[in-house]
Amino acid sequence: MRVNRIHRAVVTGVERLTPGMMRVAFGGEGLADFTSSGVGDEYFRLFFPHEGETEPALPTPTDDGYWEYPEDVDPAPLRTYTVRAWDEASGILTVDFVVHQGGVAAAWALAARPGDVVGVNTPTALYAAPEDIEWQAPGGRCDRPPGRAEACRERAPRRAHSRGPRGRGR
Ligand SMILES: Cc1cc2nc3c(=O)[nH]c(=O)nc-3n(C[C@H](O)[C@H](O)[C@H](O)COP(=O)(O)OP(=O)(O)OC[C@H]3O[C@@H](n4cnc5c(N)ncnc54)[C@H](O)[C@@H]3O)c2cc1C
Repeated sequence: MRVNRIHRAVVTGVERLTPGMMRVAFGGEGLADFTSSGVGDEYFRLFFPHEGETEPALPTPTDDGYWEYPEDVDPAPLRTYTVRAWDEASGILTVDFVVHQGGVAAAWALAARPGDVVGVNTPTALYAAPEDIEWQAPGGRCDRPPGRAEACRERAPRRAHSRGPRGRGR
């Protein structure tokens, strides 16, 4: 059965990559059993605190791969994000946020500080490259996922060359 966990993730660092993009690093004991597929397009759900609160209510994972809340708990707002990087050795998870006016996630990222808390679930990967792939050209909206070119380049099938917005690489 597919692993399905919800983790408490604590902000350990925030970096402004460009005027429109923030990079947020997460760590903490809650990520101790986080599992990454290692595939470049893997995405997950981030659970954010309600406005005025500091920590989201985290749901309980269910056997069908989703999650549930007790009836008397107001579910945390959630949005879909891409795993930009997962470093198992240090337990640091990195997510790149496109930031803009409005939006639960964008507003949260713009205000994020070390110590802030979100929830994350076990990521899902969809990309399955053919065994004999030699070239790939990742494309898509800049925010879906923002790290697509870099992620594919760093986490591509071993033999594949990639050509993305920032040029070519392996
Ligand atoms: C599989 C998948 C992976 C994704 N990975 C990432 C990721 O790694 N990083 C990332 O930043 N996004 C990613 N996204 C997109 C992200 O889920 C949405 O942009 C999300 O809706 C942002 O939530 P929000 O609360 O900030 O804004 P919302 O509440 O969804 O929107 C609020 C307002 O902001 C506007 N808005 C939303 N997005 C943008 C934008 N990009 N530019 C300008 N205005 C906008 C809306 O039009 C609306 O007016 C991914 C989406 C998918 C489906």
